[in-house]
Amino acid sequence: MNLRGTSKGRFETERHGIGMAKKIPLRQCVGCGEMKSKKEMMRVLKSEDSSICLDFTGKKNGRGAYLCKSMTCLKQARKNKGLERSFKMSIPEQVYDALEKEFADGETE
Ligand SMILES: [Zn+2]
Repeated sequence: MNLRGTSKGRFETERHGIGMAKKIPLRQCVGCGEMKSKKEMMRVLKSEDSSICLDFTGKKNGRGAYLCKSMTCLKQARKNKGLERSFKMSIPEQVYDALEKEFADGETE
C-alpha cells in the first residue's frame, strides 16, 4: 500500500453538498426537444374523450405533453409529430390549427 502524500494538503471534504443546485423536475419539449422546468412550459392536454387542448395552468386532468411557451415549438411539434408520439394517436390538422389559435389567443391575454 502506498501512503505517500497523505500527510500533505487537506481534502476539501467540508465542501461536500455546498453549491449543489436544487433539483428541479425537467420536462422535455415535444417541439424542440429541450429540457426545461415545468413552469417555463405549457401543457398540451389530452382529455378522457381524446380531445386535445392547451393547459396553461398545468392543473387540468388528463395526459399531458409539454411544450415551450412558443409558437415555434408548437409548429415544430406539428412538423415532427412530437405530439402524435406522446399521445400515441394521430392528430388531425384542425386540432393543430385549434391549438395554434388557442396559443395565439392565450398570448394576448
Ligand atoms: Zn421547445
